[in-house]
Amino acid sequence: MEKKYKENKFVLFMKKNIYLILMVLCLFAIAGLVTYTVVSSNVEEPGPIVDANNKPIEDEGNETPNDSPVVNVPDGSGGQEEPEEMVFDMPIVGAAVLKDYVDTELVYNATMKHWSTHQGIDYKAEVGTAVRCVFDGEVSAITTTTMHGTTVTVKHSKGFSTSYALLGSNVPVKVGDKVSKGTVLGYVAETGYFESADGPHLHFEARKDNVLIDPNYYFAGNENK
Ligand SMILES: [Zn+2]
Repeated sequence: MEKKYKENKFVLFMKKNIYLILMVLCLFAIAGLVTYTVVSSNVEEPGPIVDANNKPIEDEGNETPNDSPVVNVPDGSGGQEEPEEMVFDMPIVGAAVLKDYVDTELVYNATMKHWSTHQGIDYKAEVGTAVRCVFDGEVSAITTTTMHGTTVTVKHSKGFSTSYALLGSNVPVKVGDKVSKGTVLGYVAETGYFESADGPHLHFEARKDNVLIDPNYYFAGNENK
């Protein structure tokens, strides 16, 4: 009798307070969801948030030194990423420019008997004059044609390359050789027909991403040209 009365009282309590109980359960569920969300965001940025939970007041001071290296890291890597300065040495020291780089107007090619741009620099030099690499790199091609004689091409960093045409076939380098500023790549000759009416000279070209560029911008002292 007594037991049944107690059971009835419990059932009665449940019936009376069912909405309250459901509400409490809902609150627990919401609290659980919020906790899960916070923990999830903690995983993404564990350092600062864990610190903030442990010592919310002191951490403001602690976070500043923690943040500083983070700010400094891009600065440091920015310094490392600063482009290596492309400053060319002269391919033939002291040589006079026979024909400069011209891409905005046509110049007469006495050999080919036509007008065209001249997207290279011709340096007047005696046959046999040593032609030197203008910047560190790797020999990427050595070709010989009737028109250009022997041409040595050197690949540099950052998409730059330079080529040295109208050389003799007696080149002291081979494809794949690592070369530096001043490395002798070959010797002026009269092997190529192209521009042969101009007398012996070096025809020097520079490219950036395989597009001919004006080498004058890259010689020391000519930055403002
Ligand atoms: Zn030329």
